[in-house]
Amino acid sequence: MKTKGRKSGEFHHKHSLGQNFIEDEVLLEHLAELSLVTEEDSVLEIGPGLGSLTRPLAARAKEVVSLEIDRTLIPILRVTLEKSQNAQVIEGDVMKTDLAALVLEKFGEDCSLRVAANLPYYITTDVLTKLLRELPQAKSIAVMVQSEVGDKLLAGPGDDGYGPLTIMCQYFCDVRRALDVPAAFFTPPPKVDSAFMVLEKREAPELKVCDEALLWRLLRASFAMRRKTLVNNLMSGMGMTREDAAACLEAAGIGEKARAEEVSLEKFCMLCEEIHGRM
Ligand code: SAM
Repeated sequence: MKTKGRKSGEFHHKHSLGQNFIEDEVLLEHLAELSLVTEEDSVLEIGPGLGSLTRPLAARAKEVVSLEIDRTLIPILRVTLEKSQNAQVIEGDVMKTDLAALVLEKFGEDCSLRVAANLPYYITTDVLTKLLRELPQAKSIAVMVQSEVGDKLLAGPGDDGYGPLTIMCQYFCDVRRALDVPAAFFTPPPKVDSAFMVLEKREAPELKVCDEALLWRLLRASFAMRRKTLVNNLMSGMGMTREDAAACLEAAGIGEKARAEEVSLEKFCMLCEEIHGRM
């Protein structure tokens, strides 16, 4: 599949890198607007592609740093972003980049940070997890994801896709499905429709645990074997005895036979505090 790069000759899309680009200028402007970016903000963009979203972001932001894995796009981006003086492109793999160090180096300690991306779908979950963990100071994360992943981020106990990422996103952020975007808006069109999700960081989480790293660990352990009961997952993943696991569940008001998929964020926070108190 080929598409014309703006002023930059032909570009061959790499399916393996999730290169489904957006060219519709009205949609791009709207996505930049939904990203909540203002002139005070420093924006980290992941996967600029041909720079089509980078330009409206840069027009609104104080500065933009865009991280792109595909080195063949870098010279094209230099051309497409010629007029966006406040945008800088860096070649790199988001999964191998120390994002906290990058943000510190490029934007400084006190920046007002926002993240925006039309994410490559093959690493959506990993990127979101990494963003939540490494950039807790980000005021918002606005991302294009597969429609189904959008559902997952808004899921509740018992819903399909409810899991550690859902719970951590909802713990840290107010999650909104800002826009549904049909596949036809992408070049080449992917097989599924997309959703633009806006995760706005809560100033003070409604629920707060004293050890967030422990909550991550607990969630990973709890969902490790979905068919198993929580007691069994706590024993194998958290190294707890059956008695301790059962006592913590009881104290958190969770039934002994419960599975992770039935347990709410609030109950997980209570369970986390119980486990923390016994460590
Ligand atoms: N932002 C552009 C747009 O909206 O048209 C392109 C979006 S395209 C869905 C995803 C982009 O992420 C591609 O440019 C791809 O090369 C890049 N990408 C894929 N994997 C990446 C990774 N691990 N790190 C950084 N960029 C990546």
